Amino acid sequence: MAKQEDVFKKVISHAKEYGFIFPSSEIYDGLSAVYDYGQNGAELKNNIKQYWWKAMVQLNENIVGIDSAILMHPTTWKASGHVDAFNDPLIDNKDSKKRFRADTLIEDYCAKIEDKEKKEIEKAAKRFGDAFDKDQFVATNPKVLEYRARREAILSRMAKSLENEDLADVKALIEELEIADPDTGSKNWTDVRQFNLMFGTKLGASADSAMDLYLRPETAQGIFVNFLNVQKTSRHKLPFGIAQIGKAFRNEIVARQFIFRMREFEQMEMQFFVAPGTELEFYEKWKQTRLKWHLALGLGDENYRFHDHEKLAHYANAAADIEFNFPFGFKELEGIHSRTDFDLKAHEKFSGRKLQFFDPERNENYVPYVVETSVGLDRLFLALFSHCLKDEVLEDGSERTVLSLPPALAPVKAAILPLMKKDGLGEYAEKIFNDLKYDFNLIYEEKDSIGKRYRRQDAIGTPYCITIDHDSLNDHTVTLRDRDTMVQERVPVSELRRIIDEKTNFRNILSKI
Ligand code: ATP
Repeated sequence: MAKQEDVFKKVISHAKEYGFIFPSSEIYDGLSAVYDYGQNGAELKNNIKQYWWKAMVQLNENIVGIDSAILMHPTTWKASGHVDAFNDPLIDNKDSKKRFRADTLIEDYCAKIEDKEKKEIEKAAKRFGDAFDKDQFVATNPKVLEYRARREAILSRMAKSLENEDLADVKALIEELEIADPDTGSKNWTDVRQFNLMFGTKLGASADSAMDLYLRPETAQGIFVNFLNVQKTSRHKLPFGIAQIGKAFRNEIVARQFIFRMREFEQMEMQFFVAPGTELEFYEKWKQTRLKWHLALGLGDENYRFHDHEKLAHYANAAADIEFNFPFGFKELEGIHSRTDFDLKAHEKFSGRKLQFFDPERNENYVPYVVETSVGLDRLFLALFSHCLKDEVLEDGSERTVLSLPPALAPVKAAILPLMKKDGLGEYAEKIFNDLKYDFNLIYEEKDSIGKRYRRQDAIGTPYCITIDHDSLNDHTVTLRDRDTMVQERVPVSELRRIIDEKTNFRNILSKI
């Protein structure tokens, strides 16, 4: 089995074993691509949300946050284009009976060409050593140029066919490239069809009067329909932003990668409203700001890259993804889109209400342009969880599994561990717990050997373990063990709050943005 697959399997089983993620309604054999977050998962998720909310709303004087409803008036989705255009092109393999996204099959094919291109560059870098001029090599090497041209030709043909709704050509492209079902190798494909990803539901009691609704496929529209409400009540002038964290629902065609692609998931979206003509400048700015936000988590700069879109969504005039190096390769983590005035204009048209801003400097009313940043909370969870989960061999030859999460995001900040319950150690430990619990999420554990308890905390990423022994009763000191260095030091109980705060405060990551 490929190593990457092993890593991914370990991620999934660790997430379940340690109370991070369970398959939804597991006692009924689960529900495909729907997951529940357990006790540790919910904490980690809340901390990720806090990191995002603080970075967006708290640190930016001109961004405010809202919480709009999941159910919206159905015309919203007509206006936004989702009823007509929120489709994925799907294709079935007749032999394996598996369903795929046609565009993903083609993109994966191009990613393989890109890998070849990279290998060519790496080979040359080794051959030429210090004298290697990458830019020049990339601009002149015939093989690299050929790979690039081929990739670009394929992607632009696909983009054009999708734009023109020419699905027969998408199928023709798959056949010409001899793309096979990645699992079985079969090239026996059906035609390509469009499939709308929105979940429908009904509002109202009686069948006749019930209104057809959709579960929102993105949180953004809740922001657009509230644009004027928020602008007027917050009295913000342009440019200003509205942020929101919430659930979104998509009936995904292919949902096989754990929490990477779910049918019910959470988004953290921010729509930044700007004057027409300034949107591309803000688009560039937000691309860089969002990348910095990710890098501040310390998962390694080399694990992120931008992917500028060839195929633009119906609402965008520029778009890029921030991709992360997941256990199954580089994939989209966040989207940054210059959405123009498409959404607000469409809502004006469908609602008959004006959604404009009076700009005192330009002395005119206009529909603002919008730059959106949209990150999947669950994908970010997966990025953190998979990257931070490590098996380590210690100096004495023993092994441990550690989840080296950024301390501010760790579900539990410290574990309070009395060496034993008797002799008053349990009571002393409880006293420490009750004092620190107002500031930090803690765990209290008195069962099993200290070594075993340390391992359990390592596995859920707890930055500190605090051990209370007999000496503690006399000198009011405890042993503080650091998750990452495993160094144990004796510290006064009175210093605990300061030490834990220093390590786990959000300021540590927020100040790097
Ligand atoms: P993809 O191309 O992977 O389907 P998308 O381009 O449709 O994603 P957007 O509509 O831009 O995604 O949504 C913004 C973010 O929401 C994505 O970057 C991703 O992190 C997250 N997201 C989208 N769909 C899902 C899903 N099915 N499960 C989990 N997260 C998702």
